[in-house]
Amino acid sequence: MSENKSNNFIHNIIDKDNEEGTYGGKVYTRFPPEPNGYLHIGHAKSICLNFTTAQKYGGKTNLRYDDTNPVKEDVEYVDSIEEDVRWLGFTWEKRLWASDYFDTMYEAAVTLIKKGLAYVDDLTPEQMREYRGTLTKPGTPSPNRDQSPEEALALFERMRAGEFADGERTLRARIDMASPNINMRDPIIYRIAHTEHHNTGDKWCIYPMYDFAHPIEDAIEGITHSICTLEFEDHRPLYDWVLREVGFWPHPPKQIEFARLNLTHTVMSKRLLKALVDDGTVEGWDDPRMPTIAGLRRRGYTPESIRNFCEEIGVAKGNSTIDVAMLEHCIRDDLQNKVQARNVIEDPIKVIITNYPEDASEMCEVENNRNVPEMGTREIPFSRELYIDGADFMEVPVKKYFRLFPGNEVRFKGAYFITCNEVVKNEDGSIKELLCTYDPETRSGSGFEGRKVKGTIHFVDAKTAVPIRVRNYNYLYVEDENGENVLNPNSLEEKICYAEPSLADAQPGERFQFFRHGYYIADAKLTNDKEKVFNRIVDLKSSFKPKK
Ligand code: ATP
Ligand code: MG
Repeated sequence: MSENKSNNFIHNIIDKDNEEGTYGGKVYTRFPPEPNGYLHIGHAKSICLNFTTAQKYGGKTNLRYDDTNPVKEDVEYVDSIEEDVRWLGFTWEKRLWASDYFDTMYEAAVTLIKKGLAYVDDLTPEQMREYRGTLTKPGTPSPNRDQSPEEALALFERMRAGEFADGERTLRARIDMASPNINMRDPIIYRIAHTEHHNTGDKWCIYPMYDFAHPIEDAIEGITHSICTLEFEDHRPLYDWVLREVGFWPHPPKQIEFARLNLTHTVMSKRLLKALVDDGTVEGWDDPRMPTIAGLRRRGYTPESIRNFCEEIGVAKGNSTIDVAMLEHCIRDDLQNKVQARNVIEDPIKVIITNYPEDASEMCEVENNRNVPEMGTREIPFSRELYIDGADFMEVPVKKYFRLFPGNEVRFKGAYFITCNEVVKNEDGSIKELLCTYDPETRSGSGFEGRKVKGTIHFVDAKTAVPIRVRNYNYLYVEDENGENVLNPNSLEEKICYAEPSLADAQPGERFQFFRHGYYIADAKLTNDKEKVFNRIVDLKSSFKPKK
């Protein structure tokens, strides 16, 4: 694993804090998901960043559910989040719920009110928008802005007691209606929502807003560096204001923003991903086409490949979109020296070796991984009837085609030189079979040097071939002519293929390289004793060249 290899700008900030002794050398981070969906590869970026940053400095990381919003939470999501973080290889220090801090947050609001720094407003959302002003026009103070602390406290109590309906009142911080930063123009810090909360039940009908709650959550847990995405940069003055005025000072947590991960061909929002699940476009949150961690896991991605990807792309301060080919590069790179090859035939063409005895067969030795000789060899059967890939034969070859065509001789990998003599057709003109001959002198490993052939193709023995179901995935989203992401109608192609006999024993979750085709994994849900179903993790070729 290549993590911690270099200093990014966050490390530089921490180094400076450590030099100045700001947090006494302590580094404490948190990963704060809202439990309203499955985590995606963007969250993986945030998870890796928070955990590896703490690891680098001997620090700790909390898993904190940001459940201050009472709707949309679900145990299924909580379980999946924990499974995903663990699967990525990280262990949290504490698992916490932001809603456990509601009492402290309420007291913090009361503190602000007593300091004359918060008031209860009754402007409607439309009025509030009007009063807020614009980037060029300062805001207008609400008529309630001059409320006394006593009045404000009484009203806030009544909000809490449930005397108002949703939206009838809000608690606002009194900061600066003329601030050039609109987030500082008296932001709402508490709102009314008469909704059951999964943790606190009906104890509360007022809930803190994110910008008020988050800094308090961080401070309560002793977080030192609160890493979030760039959208929150303009909220940082409010983050600091809350901590200063509530009294978490002089060493408050420090909010640091980085650019969120965007990937080509990928939609990265729990809301949009949930819609795909709900409308049945995909088979679930763990559909192998989904950019969720559960989907990538089922697709066959390894935790190492995802961690390496997150490390490779680095931590940026400006938004950009990463080519998904880079993620594919990382999984190829991780698997190439780890998994064994198997012969699998897609779009089979039958080959009859006319000069090979009818009832004979023999075993041919083939390497398990061409990069790693220590991974040894295995034996595959060869006999008179074989299958080859549709792509390895052309009746009328194009220029520079070195595979099989009528009159041409190629090596069948691990076996013999074989010449195609005749193409036998079905009535509809399609190919029925190829009549070929083999040269017994040319067996692989025999040291034959009589002549050379330019092409080598793979095969499986027809009699012992195992049918497997292969699911080849393409991007879930493709660009239309206007460069917009649209759903790809061909994101899943399923085929029955013929495999060498050993794949009959493949276990759910086992990975292989299907020779010439790509890396595959036996699907964890669909593979059983009766049927073997394989997901294409990634194809073999790459258009992506890593930076050297
Ligand atoms: P979504 O819009 O997909 O629901 P979110 O930001 O609302 O994303 P949260 O559960 O609130 O999701 O996020 C948990 C953490 O993950 C936050 O710190 C958030 O900044 C981070 N995060 C979410 N998406 C990305 C991304 N694409 N790249 C990097 N970090 C991300
Ligand atoms: Mg969110």
